[in-house]
Amino acid sequence: MPEIFVGDYVAEARKALKDPVLQGALADLQNRFGRGTEQAYQNLPEGPDLRLRAHDIRADAIANLDILLETLADNVRQHGGHVFFAADAKDAADYCLKIARRNGAKLAVKGKSMVSEEIGLNTVLMENGIEVAETDLGEYIIQLAEERPSHIIAPAIHKTRFDIGRLFKDKIGIEYTEDPPSLTRAARKMLREKFLAADIGFSGCNLACAETGHIATVSNEGNIRMSTTMPRIHVAIMGMERVVARLEDHDILLRLLCRGAAAQNMATYVSYVGGPRTANQVDGPEEFHLVVLDNGRSRILADAEFREMLCCIRCAACLNICPVYGKIGGHAYGHPYSGPVGAVVMPLLAGIDDAKDLCQGETLCGACQDACPVNIDIPRMLLALRHKLAEGDPGWGVSRSSGSEKLAYQFWSWMIRNRFIYDFFLKMASIGQNVLPYHNGMIRRLPPPMAGWTRDRDIQPVAGKSFMSRWKKNHRRR
Ligand code: SF4
Repeated sequence: MPEIFVGDYVAEARKALKDPVLQGALADLQNRFGRGTEQAYQNLPEGPDLRLRAHDIRADAIANLDILLETLADNVRQHGGHVFFAADAKDAADYCLKIARRNGAKLAVKGKSMVSEEIGLNTVLMENGIEVAETDLGEYIIQLAEERPSHIIAPAIHKTRFDIGRLFKDKIGIEYTEDPPSLTRAARKMLREKFLAADIGFSGCNLACAETGHIATVSNEGNIRMSTTMPRIHVAIMGMERVVARLEDHDILLRLLCRGAAAQNMATYVSYVGGPRTANQVDGPEEFHLVVLDNGRSRILADAEFREMLCCIRCAACLNICPVYGKIGGHAYGHPYSGPVGAVVMPLLAGIDDAKDLCQGETLCGACQDACPVNIDIPRMLLALRHKLAEGDPGWGVSRSSGSEKLAYQFWSWMIRNRFIYDFFLKMASIGQNVLPYHNGMIRRLPPPMAGWTRDRDIQPVAGKSFMSRWKKNHRRR
């Protein structure tokens, strides 16, 4: 499977819209987490403005990324760990494979990590004869189903307990049950065996701390703690932007991360790892590696328009509130990032032309920024991407939109700035629409080239009298 890819956004979105089970699951997700997050920010002792402080912390870190990464690497090495800076996905995956091979690893356990999805780690390890066991329950389900995650932190959100019951019966041979605790127990039993037998553990990194040389991992299942401490080797992979300067910054960011992700005050497990276990520690790996991944991030860092996106802490709050994600789910966005964060990050990583549907599909309603624990201005960057698509940008390899599209928008822009012409076209439209097919007072189908507008919805007819003419008339009366 390619590490970053954009599929057919429109076809996948259509499929999702017709799937009632998925629609129910997405509505549940957004009702539970999306709404809860706002309340969770309100309940912060410092109030919701703490998000602005968090934005400053992340922006400072991104502005000083070179120094922070060097400090982090020095401190990890001082603890006896190894640090590898990977230029791209292949570099990172090759390094992970090299460590696994050098240690004769046959079985790897993995904590959920989107960056490992980004580098296609599972594929590389499995193609080289190393079994990989995903240990996050959602990721375990997805791995058994041979599917892709559809949400950053709830990868199996598109699956029902009935699906999972059938899957567990077929793949791990338990008796069919749709009882969630029984299914969880079954997965736990299988995974315990993997933890005990694993030679190497892989994890992501929610945040790194430069001053102490530690990475923090956050989970509710305890599986990351087991993946990182039980095997002899631990390899953590982080996007190069996930570092902040001080431990006190973690206090603010982790509290916001958990509120943004699942409306929780704090996750059940927050672990700090900075190197192999020392002589007086009973737990921990004998060898610790930190892989710091660039894979296109330097390019984002170099562009003042999109640098802010590197402040993202991948909490998924924007997915949980986005009206578009809430209808089309995660698979339409391609792999691995979905929702509003994916609509910006995927074009920047996979190519703006190739991923243009993602940024054009969002509504610009601003809900993502309101929900974001670090107050990232996603709508601004969506607009900046659209601007590049309209005007072209050789620096990002973006070709200019077609001449006819540009002409159509130039005409539209000219028309709406000219009152007389605008009124004239409105009048024409209100007369012309009389020959169109109607359903319940709505226009059922528009003729080409506007037919696409009514392929999936009916539209409101143009009013017989415009607001302006009614206003003038009413005003005159008084
Ligand atoms: S953009 Fe903000 S809300 Fe979305 S994943 Fe990143 S930090 Fe979370």
